[in-house]
Amino acid sequence: MPVPLLPDLVVTGATVVSHDGRREQDIAVRDGKVLAVGDGLATDGVPTVDATGLLVLPGLVDMHVHLREPGMTEKEDFASGTRAAAAGGVTTVADMPNTSPPVATAERYRQKLDLVSSKAYVDFGLYGMIDHDNDGEIAGMAELGALGFKLFMGQTTGDNRCPNDAAIFRGLEAAAAAGLVVGVHAENDHLLRMFGDRLRACGRTDPRAHLEGRPAFVEVEAVTRIITMATESGTKLHIHHLSTAAGLRRVMALRAEGHQVSVETLIAHLFLDDSAYDIHGNLVKLNPPIRPAADVAALWNGIARGDVDIIATDHAPHTAEEQGEPDVWKAYGGFIGVETMLPLLLTAAAEGTLTVEDIVRLCAYRPAQRWSISGKGQLTPGYDADFVLVDPTAQTTLDAAALHSKHNVTPYHGRSLTGSVVATYLRGQLVYEKGEIIGGPGGRQVRPVREISSAAV
Ligand SMILES: [Zn+2]
Repeated sequence: MPVPLLPDLVVTGATVVSHDGRREQDIAVRDGKVLAVGDGLATDGVPTVDATGLLVLPGLVDMHVHLREPGMTEKEDFASGTRAAAAGGVTTVADMPNTSPPVATAERYRQKLDLVSSKAYVDFGLYGMIDHDNDGEIAGMAELGALGFKLFMGQTTGDNRCPNDAAIFRGLEAAAAAGLVVGVHAENDHLLRMFGDRLRACGRTDPRAHLEGRPAFVEVEAVTRIITMATESGTKLHIHHLSTAAGLRRVMALRAEGHQVSVETLIAHLFLDDSAYDIHGNLVKLNPPIRPAADVAALWNGIARGDVDIIATDHAPHTAEEQGEPDVWKAYGGFIGVETMLPLLLTAAAEGTLTVEDIVRLCAYRPAQRWSISGKGQLTPGYDADFVLVDPTAQTTLDAAALHSKHNVTPYHGRSLTGSVVATYLRGQLVYEKGEIIGGPGGRQVRPVREISSAAV
């Protein structure tokens, strides 16, 4: 009989929630990985965390954040953004490439990786960008560990030139050859610009003009076009921040024809509707926009039916001054969210809108599976010991001042919450506990396993 390995940490008494169920079990950790999950794992002389009455979830994997480094660090940087993630129970973030300069070449990818690697408080992946003429750079970025590629079909922060359909198709082919997922911002750029010009010509500068300038069919058209092309090129396709009932209906119709695509919804599109413009003004400007309540209901129904694969934050910080801009055309899109995702979802779970198992599936298990990130998204022996201790009954009020981003302006300030993050562990190390960040930046780059073809769409 081999001598069983001693753990270096044991969590006892908690209810361990996975994507497909929950059980009261102990978790033993050794060398940053889950050693065992089971009963009676507490061992003399081994540090023990008594988590009686708490839930233990796999650390969340947020596939959509903008940490603004390099080039926009007045808004956020890798240290502040990943501290916010740790405080929100998010142990892996996937950072978008529309920084300044944008990450559209292998050289820029390497520069960004060198710049941010020592600053991360949680694990991170970096996306590359598909731009109007960089299909020759895709393989090089993949070699450096690109988690996947982001394609902006519609204009957003950074005002990167949107590729035409031929450039898109070449980018899709290159990503397919690299075995990586392409995630898309699916709105038709030409139509967005035309509707924006019309509204400006009418003298509109109010927050709702942004919604009126981005009607649902603009998303439907782009979704249809990109799914059609991705099937033809054999590319693993993911739709970021799908925002409309009509968009989701079109995805389901195309899936019924055999097209394979994963779908993400954002916390903001689930927890805010267009009444937010009257309360928060341009703070809630978002691309795609915050939609009417009927769209919000359709997205929740899509989650309940299992049609939506992933929930993400689109954590998109701007300075407090920028967030107060009154002219909708000058205002930036997006706001922070990586720290508030889990408390908001736990509150929805307490209200019966979804289950905590659903949260684990949508925010940890499926993201890790879809992007082939090994060792994440589950608390199974051999997996990274990334986990969150959650008090599911704690009653609090969301306080923007307590958040860890550089600028803590959030439309969720003052919301009543049921459920809070007590502590976050990254590869067995305590990184956050009761309001405080513990220790220094120990996050590492995560790379996708490119041999694994995506079994799960
Ligand atoms: Zn985004």
